[in-house]
Formats: sequence, C-alpha cells, structure tokens
Amino acid sequence: MKEKIVILGAGESGIGTAILAKKQGFEVFVSDQGAIADSTKDNFDQLEIDWEENTHTISKMEGANYVMKSPGIPSNVPFMDVLRDLQIPIISEIEFASKYTDATLIGITGSNGKTTTAMLTHHILKSAGFDVGLAGNIGNSFAKEVAEKNHKYYVLEISSFQLDDIINFAPQIGVITNITSDHLDRYDYDFTQYLKSKLRINQNQTKRDFLLFNADDPELKNAIDQIDTEATLHGFGYSSQNMNITYMENDQVVIKTKKQKTMINTMDFTLKGRHNLLNAMAASTVADLLEVSKETIRESLSNFKGAPHRLEQVLKIQKINYINDSKATNINSVYFALESMNSQTVWIVGGVDKGNDYEALYPLVREKVKAIVCLGLDNQKIIESFQPIVDIIVETQSMKEAVLIAHKIAEKSENVLLSPACASFDLFENYEDRGNQFKQAVREL
Ligand code: ADP
Repeated sequence: MKEKIVILGAGESGIGTAILAKKQGFEVFVSDQGAIADSTKDNFDQLEIDWEENTHTISKMEGANYVMKSPGIPSNVPFMDVLRDLQIPIISEIEFASKYTDATLIGITGSNGKTTTAMLTHHILKSAGFDVGLAGNIGNSFAKEVAEKNHKYYVLEISSFQLDDIINFAPQIGVITNITSDHLDRYDYDFTQYLKSKLRINQNQTKRDFLLFNADDPELKNAIDQIDTEATLHGFGYSSQNMNITYMENDQVVIKTKKQKTMINTMDFTLKGRHNLLNAMAASTVADLLEVSKETIRESLSNFKGAPHRLEQVLKIQKINYINDSKATNINSVYFALESMNSQTVWIVGGVDKGNDYEALYPLVREKVKAIVCLGLDNQKIIESFQPIVDIIVETQSMKEAVLIAHKIAEKSENVLLSPACASFDLFENYEDRGNQFKQAVREL
C-alpha cells in the first residue's frame, strides 16, 4: 500500500514537501486552515495532489504515516493535539527532505546572522566549484530542491521552528550563529526552551560531524559546554581560549583545526561590522573544513555582495550616508548596526515592539546617536527609554516623512540608519516592504 503524508500549510515548505512526496510515490493530502493561492491550487491539481483550504478535516488524515507541519503553525494549537492522539509522527520539512538526499548538509541556525552566513557560505563554496545549493528559509524550500535539483551539497538556513520537528535530521556541519531572545512568544517566553530548540541542530550528529558555534556568546557557550555529543565542537569568535577555534589575530581570521592552521587576511572583505566578521569566521570555517583553499575563501569574501536590508548601503547624498537595516527586528541586531557606525547617526527606529528592553543600547546610543526618528503607530516606549539620553526625538507616521526629517537633521559625514528593532506589521507589509520604501524615499530626496 502507498505511504500517506498529510501536509499542513500550503506555503513554501508545504508546496516543496508535496512535490517531493508525490515524486517519492506517497499519497499526498495538503490541508490549510486559510485560503490557498490560486496558482498553488493549479499546481496541486496538475500534480494530482489532493488538497483542502479553510479547514482541517481530521477524517482525511487518519492512517497517515507522517504529518508535515509547516513552520508557521505553532505546535501548541489544539488541532496538533488531535493529531498527536492519532499517533501520527509530526515532522518538519527539513526532516522529510533529508530522507531523500545523500547531499552533504551545512545547517545554519541562530537568532541573527543566519541569512548572511548562509549566503556567504554558499558563495564561497560555489566560487570553489562545488555543486552546491542554497535552501531553507532562503529561496526554495529544501524539499523542492531535493525533488528538482538534488545538488551534492546544500547550505540550509534553518529556523528553530524547523528544528522543533526533526527526528533523524543531521547536518554534517551545523552552525549556530548566536542565541538572543527573539520569537520567545513561540516558546512560552522561556529562553531555555528556545535555546534547546536551536541546539537540536546537533541532536543526531555523530563523530564524523562538526558543530560550529559562536564562542563569544556566553549563554550559547555555556549550553554547548553541557551538551553530550560525539561531533567535533568548533568555536569561533574574538576570544581565542578554546582548542580548535576560529579567531581574529590582527587583521587575519585564523582557523585552527586538527589538520591545519589557516590564516585569511580580512582587509578587503566587503561586509562591514564586527558581527559580519563573526559571520565570515563561521563561513570560512565551513569552507576550510571542506578543504577550500584560503585564496578562494579570501577572494570570495572580497567580492561578496551583502544581502539586501541588512546594513545595506543605499546612497550618499550631500555626503550623508543612508543605510538600510530594515531586517534588524531585535535589539541584538541593532546593537551591531550601531556599533558599526563610524560617525554620528540619525537613527530611524520603531514598529511593533516584541518586548524590547532598550537598556543594552544605551552606551552606543549615547556615543553615536544624535537624533532619533520614531517610525511606528506606538512610539511611547522608545520615547520613554531614550528621552533622558538623546536630545532630539521626533515622531513620524510614514517612511517618507521619517526620511525627510532625518535628512534635515543629519549633517555632512553623518549617517541616517534605518534599524527598527521592531517588527514591521503596523505600517508595512513586511521588512522588505519597509526597506524598499526607505530606499525609495532616499532616492526621492
Ligand atoms: P537572520 O537570517 O538570522 O535574521 P540576517 O543575516 O538576515 O539574519 O540578519 C538580520 C539582522 O541582524 C540584520 O540587521 C543584520 O545586520 C544583523 N546581523 C547579521 N549578522 C549578525 C550577527 N552575527 N549578530 C548580530 N546581528 C547580526
């Protein structure tokens, strides 16, 4: 009898899983609580994949061998309990996809820096001539890639939601960029639970595998010290107290493994900021473990174009530098953005607050921020937090207005930085929309 898979959610990962499952001979049923896009429905019909929308019909799920839950669906909704009672294994898309490929997997997770590190790693490996794909939260889902391309190597950007529902998934190289409080709403506001979910990247790793982690992140380092694993642990960071570590010495990234010591000059790296050097350390270490030459690593890091909306240089107008960091939706990423500013800055901040505690930013704001332009429907918390230390705080309600006012305040050689520390859903569709509107407003100045 055919194996059966139920797919909950008809977004990227649902579509990818459906395509792969069909290809593997499964009976496939896709169920979405909301409406499914017309183009997706057409696609399912063409592939003869059964689907339903605006409901979940339990009777059509009974007897399934697996349920693939899309990462957007919280695991604590009552409906999931019903499925658990039916004793159907609930898995994520990366779990399902990894069953059907022999590719070498590089899995990148963490609170901040996943996309940048994944793109950098992919870029280096591709430049070195590897048959490598980039998937997960970026671009195609991993399942779709496995169904349609099946490269020999995959760099996967993996969220904690994807890791929550793995059983056997194990990347040959796992990377944890850092762990700061974000998405705590999905983990009962419990940091330990969130940390645990990120560490699942290591759950099934064996002694042939590697786990790279940011050794400068005290909570992560502490958690790693306590895990029981056969994988080779490899810290990276500015500190150099560990064995087997990647660190900075003058302007060089030094990578020490059991086999060799590689030194890479960072002078020409295109990405700026201390956090990006951490991302570069992680990506170079992956490449070094896969025996890419240091010349290729250095060259690739020198011609890498950063991802949009992440400390993205927009324009210089009258010697004022405009920077789009719309993706900075938490305090930690704003911290690194402000840290990398090398002159006085007009900071555009605000949106939907996810429980921010702004105190960690006080020293940097005192040193670098000459004015704050609030952009959001509710700016009260920002105003209260920064009134004692910043002289100029202006409230605005549209990107156009925010950019115009920032432009008036900023002077020659200064920066205007959009780094919101908040989600974007009050005034914008998403962070990309917010970043694009910023760039548009700057171009119109
Ligand atoms: P993610 O995919 O984890 O959200 P991104 O690479 O998209 O990470 O970056 C998100 C935000 O965090 C951007 O504002 C970026 O400048 C900042 N950032 C990038 N790398 C790091 C890092 N290692 N530590 C802290 N912040 C970072």
